[in-house]
Amino acid sequence: MTTAHPLLIVGSIAFDDLDMPTGDHRDVLGGAATYSALAAALVVGVGARDAVRVVGVVGTDFPDAHLQELRSRGIDTAGVERAAGKTFRWHGRYSSDLASRTSLDTQLNVFADFSPKIPQAYRSSPFVLLGNIHPKLQVDVLDQVQKPRLVVADTMNFWIEREPAALAAMLRRIDLLVINDEEARQLSGIHNLVRAAADIRKRGPAAGLRLIIKRGEFGALLFDEAGAFFVPAYPLEEVLDPTGAGDSFAGGLMGYLAARGEITPSSLRKALYFAAALGSFCVEGIGPSRLLGIGRSDLAARIASFARLVDHGGELSLPA
Ligand code: AMP
Repeated sequence: MTTAHPLLIVGSIAFDDLDMPTGDHRDVLGGAATYSALAAALVVGVGARDAVRVVGVVGTDFPDAHLQELRSRGIDTAGVERAAGKTFRWHGRYSSDLASRTSLDTQLNVFADFSPKIPQAYRSSPFVLLGNIHPKLQVDVLDQVQKPRLVVADTMNFWIEREPAALAAMLRRIDLLVINDEEARQLSGIHNLVRAAADIRKRGPAAGLRLIIKRGEFGALLFDEAGAFFVPAYPLEEVLDPTGAGDSFAGGLMGYLAARGEITPSSLRKALYFAAALGSFCVEGIGPSRLLGIGRSDLAARIASFARLVDHGGELSLPA
């Protein structure tokens, strides 16, 4: 049974149009907050009802059934604002090997005027996940919450290029940044990821900034006060759609930490396996379909299989 250490997730909720090599999909439920919340809820479990709280905005065209779907998984949607207008819409096209994607269209719609309002009941959330939104809005969220125990943020190339000052101010307010390798290189101006990480870590608060660099199918690297740590990607036979993998990764990570209620180098390293496991489930289906189709027993089985994958028997010293 998990204890509820509430996790607040702020980010986009969307309709995605996905052009995949296997076919086109329209009006797919998407958005960073959606993927992160579904992933976190799988780790936390419905035993800790409403421990995952979402703040975002949808338009009048967004079916209540989608919100109901989130609620049925124990996600609290009271912080999802319904504004006059259309829901944020993103259209992406993937290359035949799924290794790259092009954003064909981004319609901000109600997301253009999004100014996150954190409900009173959410303000004491000890765990906060700031999805990829304007860094100024990420800081606005932090101004509304009371001393969270762990603040994790994502960002993207768009903000790194266009809002460097706002991004720098955001980095000084968070505990852990989760970005991909391209973003780490862009943010630091350094190609080598170990040196890039050292540079980025200096930009955090006095207490220190931890950093996770995601490398897709090549796993993820953590840099923190205990040193560097690597988690591989869970090897899959078939990948259908990488959309939302990064957000599911962050949701899985935070779900584990919130469920455990412990933030130590050791719990962070374990959390990375849950992050990678949730990322792996996400890419096995179109949109969030796989995350919606599995339960905690599937997650437990994958974690067990993951543990076997990396288990080398416990001793790894140079033979005498
Ligand atoms: P990921 O594949 O982890 O980058 O996440 C993809 C999700 O992010 C999709 O479901 C999109 O709806 C959402 N998304 C795409 N562009 C943006 C944007 N500019 N701001 C916020 N969310 C976005």
